[in-house]
Amino acid sequence: MKTVTILGATGSVGTSTLDLIERSPEQFEVIALTANCDVAKLADAARRTRAKRAVVADETCLPALRDALAGTDTEVAGGPAAVAETAAMDADWTMAAIVGCAGLKPVMAAIEQGRAVALANKEALVSAGDVMMAAVARTGATLLPVDSEHNAIFQCLEPANRDRVRRVILTASGGPFRERSLDEMRRITPAQAVAHPNWSMGAKISVDSASMMNKGLELIEARHLFALRPDQLDVLVHRQSVIHSLVEYVDGSLLAQLGPPDMRVPIAHALAWPDRMATPMAPLDLAAIGRLDFEAADMVRFPALALARAALEAGGARPAILNAANEVAVAAFLAGTIGFLEIAAIVADTMDSYDPGAPDTLDAVLEVDAGARRIAGDRVLAKAA
Ligand code: NDP
Repeated sequence: MKTVTILGATGSVGTSTLDLIERSPEQFEVIALTANCDVAKLADAARRTRAKRAVVADETCLPALRDALAGTDTEVAGGPAAVAETAAMDADWTMAAIVGCAGLKPVMAAIEQGRAVALANKEALVSAGDVMMAAVARTGATLLPVDSEHNAIFQCLEPANRDRVRRVILTASGGPFRERSLDEMRRITPAQAVAHPNWSMGAKISVDSASMMNKGLELIEARHLFALRPDQLDVLVHRQSVIHSLVEYVDGSLLAQLGPPDMRVPIAHALAWPDRMATPMAPLDLAAIGRLDFEAADMVRFPALALARAALEAGGARPAILNAANEVAVAAFLAGTIGFLEIAAIVADTMDSYDPGAPDTLDAVLEVDAGARRIAGDRVLAKAA
């Protein structure tokens, strides 16, 4: 029996994780589930899994959660501090699937326990890469990559040959706008941006995929997870999303991981690791897929990728600024306040006008994050005016 906690249990990754866990009730015991405010979904999942605790980050949603779970043994709590405390509860395996830097404190709290942490919440690692990896080294926690690309790299990296890696190639579907001109992208609506051709995901990561900021965040994520140099990291557009990433060795061998574009594959890998577990999806039918296409990424039509590459190379506070500005700009785009191309423009502006020193503690990272959010928020207001 593995005890598990799911942070962000009501989201796309959280729901896929619950699906796998509920198919094997004899193998998993749910300690805690958290959400922001989706009380109906959280309470339903807590009842089904008999979770010991259910928590909403938005404290105003706590009374509704208390009502929804009245008469059960599930303890309820509310507020960001309660989410972080819950992440520190004793669980063998924690899924970190909160979206955005809001997940940073809870992920750090889980890492402090020195157990297994499955990481989907890439924004936390992008913002606090050095601080988080230092905590992993200090506590002996096992960080299991859930992002499909990083999970693929994790599977392709030969532990004995880490110093024989020449390059790691992250594949990218190219998102829904891979064939649109810059002029067409000016008029993209939020509904068009969240309609990803291959993956079903939450709204924020769907917009990041459309702008290719997602791939940029993933470059930074890969740097920290696998201790790679920026010049060892490449992006390759592969529209079928069948190859999830590749590792190239000095002898010219390329190892790739293939699988259906369903997050339950990498989640199952992290859930069962170092074992393997069955998933309910049909096996990949390569004959039916027929062909796999590859092309170079276009940094001109997708400036977010170039901005992320610059942050990756500069390090220090740059990735945290990039991420915070992007979170603010994506939220404004989804709210209909700014246009699609203004996301990257706001990130660029924020990066140009903010240059704090490299943050070396969690509080310092959160300070950089808050500073970048203020600047990006002002830029949103200026664009909206
Ligand atoms: P969703 O938007 O679907 O879900 C986000 C989850 O986080 C929900 O449970 C939400 O609760 C919770 N949440 C939102 N805001 C807060 C907050 N302020 N405090 C605490 N909890 C909060 O996101 P995804 O599942 O798509 O993505 C989650 C993470 O995983 C992201 O970092 C993403 O980049 C990464 N990821 C996602 C993939 C995917 O296929 N979806 C693939 C690879 C990585 P509520 O429902 O109540 O709002």
